[in-house]
Amino acid sequence: MKIPLYLKDCYLKETGAIVEDVSKDKFIILDKNIFYPNMGGQPYDTGTLTTEDGTEYKVVYVGMFGGKISHEVDKPGLRKGDNVQCKIDWERRYTLMKMHTAAHVLSRVIHEDTGANTSGNQLGIEKSRIDFTLENFDREKIPGWFQKSNEIIKKNLGVEKSFLNRDEAYKLQGFASVSPHLVKDYDELRVVDIKGFDAQPCGGTHLDNIFEIGGIEFVKAENKGAKNRRIYFKLK
Ligand SMILES: [Zn+2]
Repeated sequence: MKIPLYLKDCYLKETGAIVEDVSKDKFIILDKNIFYPNMGGQPYDTGTLTTEDGTEYKVVYVGMFGGKISHEVDKPGLRKGDNVQCKIDWERRYTLMKMHTAAHVLSRVIHEDTGANTSGNQLGIEKSRIDFTLENFDREKIPGWFQKSNEIIKKNLGVEKSFLNRDEAYKLQGFASVSPHLVKDYDELRVVDIKGFDAQPCGGTHLDNIFEIGGIEFVKAENKGAKNRRIYFKLK
């Protein structure tokens, strides 16, 4: 599958595109993709598709189906071959980029302190959560993890996104577990590298500098079974 534009430039807010396919009058496939589909714990982007005559279609959901990104719009009318101006709701996306990059930072801080691996995450606008596997969970450590994360965030570290040949990527240390969709959907592996701090394969949208996160706050912690822990955080 062709690497979508949102992976190459996470700050792309608008683009012109051509409608490649329409099904059931409301599911739109485009030749260029700046809308992130609901996937890997990161919610879909919302926004608009506007035709040359000025008709605006709201994008209410975006999903990946059969290797294609499908945009669900609020009303019928779009036709194959239409030229549209795509615009994402930047405030929503930017918040999710902050949340996602913060989740990488917090995961790395917890991993360094305890050896725990992240088993999942669900990003949100108000709050986000990360799940990790840890048998002996000492809740008194939580404030320290947040303090450490906020110290790192203040360090003004660049976040580099690169594409590696998958075989090369697997040779690198720490890349043992990779989200299945990353392996399945693309020939190259996307790596998100917070310079000098944490690098991991990821198919989500990320900031260019962790400084943009601003800071994070602890919300709550839960136990999910004997070994699985869940921590919720929000942006400051
Ligand atoms: Zn990520």
